[in-house]
Amino acid sequence: MAAGRAPTLQLGQLTGVWAAIYRRRDRLEQHAASQVLAAWRELAAGLDLTAVMTALRQQVAPAESTAAADRRRHVQRVTTAAVLAQLARLASRPEWPQLVAALTAAMRGGRAAGARAGHAVAADDGGELGDEDYDQADGEGDADAELAAAYTVTAAALRGTAQTIARALLTAAEQGTDERAMLDQAAAVITDGAAWSTSIITAVGAAWTDGMTAAYQQRSVQQLSVVTVGDGHVCSACITAEDNSPYPAATAPRPPLHPLCRCTLQPT
Ligand SMILES: [Zn+2]
Repeated sequence: MAAGRAPTLQLGQLTGVWAAIYRRRDRLEQHAASQVLAAWRELAAGLDLTAVMTALRQQVAPAESTAAADRRRHVQRVTTAAVLAQLARLASRPEWPQLVAALTAAMRGGRAAGARAGHAVAADDGGELGDEDYDQADGEGDADAELAAAYTVTAAALRGTAQTIARALLTAAEQGTDERAMLDQAAAVITDGAAWSTSIITAVGAAWTDGMTAAYQQRSVQQLSVVTVGDGHVCSACITAEDNSPYPAATAPRPPLHPLCRCTLQPT
């Protein structure tokens, strides 16, 4: 490879160990997202947002108001906070521990898979990735760190969900949509769970990198390069991180560098 320039992984053209690793990582992320989404839907089923809508209707200003944009932003913030308060109450439901368990299991699986991938890459043994049991914790887990990460995911997902619901409700209220239809829209946002998918996939990616860098460390890897997937959807921050490679192993940037980042680290 050219000096100072890490090789971009071409997704879709990957061969050998990286092809196996990315297939595994993709399946792992999809599995994690479906487990977490199932737990979230069960937890949030039947959430009543009637109180939020009543408050929202009282606040929606006429569109011709001179300070309409400011007013709208204000109402959106207040509505987001009100929705978030309702979502936070879900933590007292009996289904809550199942959601937390799904989150911690996903991250434990990500860390274990990242460690296996790191050993396979560093050993360059052509794809010896070990077994593929998503929920099997075969690395030394750190329960406190997993729980902290689970709550970080939860906070981001609840906030993202609240923002999306507030946007939908505000637009609906301005259009004079009836209450029944507004409730249906909020329920659709909850069922869709987009904020949960984004948050858990990103967190699994972080756990995966943790496992991978731990494996590299065990194998005394000294230098690491950030490698992008090179498929035309790579953002400029990741390209810069790749261009600045290699790094001393201890100070290399740790993907995900942003939500849904697919970059990885490779010994140089
Ligand atoms: Zn990236």
